[in-house]
Amino acid sequence: SNFWSNVQMGPPDVILGVTEAFKKDKSPKKVNLGVGAYRDDNNKPYILPSVRQAEEIIFKKCLNHEYAPIGGDATYANLVAKLGLGDNSLAIKEKRNVTIQTLSGTGALRVGFEFIANHYSHSKEIWLPAPTWGNHPQICNMLRIPHKKYRYYDPRTHGFDLQGCCEDICSIPPGSIILLHACAHNPTGVDPKPEEWQTLSEVIKEKKLLPFFDMAYQGFATGNVDNDAFAVRLFEKDGHQLMLAQSFAKNMGLYGERVGALSFVCADQDTAANIMSQVKILIRTLYSNPAINGSRIVTEILSNPELRAQWLCDVKEMADRIINMRKKLREGIERRGNKLKWQHITDQIGMFCYTGLKPDQVARITKDFHIYLTKDGRISVAGISSSNVDYVAEAIHKVTS
Ligand code: PLP
Repeated sequence: SNFWSNVQMGPPDVILGVTEAFKKDKSPKKVNLGVGAYRDDNNKPYILPSVRQAEEIIFKKCLNHEYAPIGGDATYANLVAKLGLGDNSLAIKEKRNVTIQTLSGTGALRVGFEFIANHYSHSKEIWLPAPTWGNHPQICNMLRIPHKKYRYYDPRTHGFDLQGCCEDICSIPPGSIILLHACAHNPTGVDPKPEEWQTLSEVIKEKKLLPFFDMAYQGFATGNVDNDAFAVRLFEKDGHQLMLAQSFAKNMGLYGERVGALSFVCADQDTAANIMSQVKILIRTLYSNPAINGSRIVTEILSNPELRAQWLCDVKEMADRIINMRKKLREGIERRGNKLKWQHITDQIGMFCYTGLKPDQVARITKDFHIYLTKDGRISVAGISSSNVDYVAEAIHKVTS
């Protein structure tokens, strides 16, 4: 007998499926704009100079491989909390934050959502922006947490729908959780402006919602880690209790190291201590304790002033390359006399651009030009380089004319 005959074939991961199709294509012209990882101007994975130097320093220390504490190393947690919440965070000063190391951003979301499933006594609904990163609803489904959508992206303007967003927030039951992308929204590349964040903070406070920030791209949007943490720090300053998922996959290029963090900003120190005790019990049953290599690299970079300065330059260099490619792509399409508007390519921010290409145009650009992207028209600008930007511009022009 077959013990597993009930198990059905699941759908492949949408984004990984794009890469699979790309790999099979034999054309020398092929371009992969589906990948969610930074590439340098030669389309190669990038090892940050600051990371390389940190690795050398760590290697020379001949450290052992003992277990980390359940919530990760405390020095790491303090440095990372400050990077996210800022040096002047009142919560950190008042010891009202709980910060633990997690398995990158996904691990932070999973532990955070699981903590909500187990310990949250208010409206257990998670409200996600429409659209959002595919893994958000998937994690909710896995944990059987109800999730709903609030309006976020306006396809007419290719921008943020402030009015729709506020209207929807006003109808969310008090005590629910609202997930916000802190910066460089995935998949749209559309972020609220500072004054729009201000409005959101007020409305969310008034409706008594718990904000959960997903910050997977700190530094990647503007090239400056402080600017990109604007929303999180504003909400903290406005007195919100909040949750925060951080990742060093993109901004340090530490994808496979799986290093991130989950923070809670709590009402008081006692609550923080209670949460810490329960988070540790939760993690103990999931993976006992986190991996040590990635957090050593992050700790070295954030605590060594020279390396930190180098890292800030490295992040800026990556963000600037993406901003530059956005400009070139837009110019390339406009130069060809395309009738549609393309300003959103440069208005949007971070690694992704929601081009507005329709599914049939995506199918055509893949078939005729060997350019691979997800059906929703999202491109990873990191996949564009000096050598292919003109080709991509030509292809977009052709399939939209
Ligand atoms: N959140 C968003 C919005 C993302 O786009 C990603 C990565 O693509 C993540 C979280 C988490 O990535 P990781 O688990 O690699 O840190």
